[in-house]
Amino acid sequence: MTGPTLTELVAAIVRRDDWRHLASCTGYDPETFFPVGTTSLELAKANEAKAVCRRCPVREHCLQWAQEAYIADGIWGGHTPKEREALRRRAARQKRSAASAAPASEPAPARASPQQ
Ligand code: SF4
Repeated sequence: MTGPTLTELVAAIVRRDDWRHLASCTGYDPETFFPVGTTSLELAKANEAKAVCRRCPVREHCLQWAQEAYIADGIWGGHTPKEREALRRRAARQKRSAASAAPASEPAPARASPQQ
């Protein structure tokens, strides 16, 4: 008898919203994920954090959570706050564009008048 695969285990844990237990950043210095300013040292921290995120199995869940919670600081899902804001703006543009491109709904059928 074989047990669940790693992929199946990850999926099960993510379904239970326990994705944080699989975070690759666990054990890292939190300051790495919360760079302040744009000095070369802080940019190096941000790049190091992004490198950790690129290897993270729950990156998409993390990014989605940060977007839904409007987290304004730190690196989440491999994105800086500015990058997350850009993703939100792009998604909003695409949503507006899709809405304006959607065919107009069919007019409601004329009701039969009581005189007919
Ligand atoms: S994507 Fe990055 S910040 Fe999010 S859980 Fe994974 S390592 Fe941590």
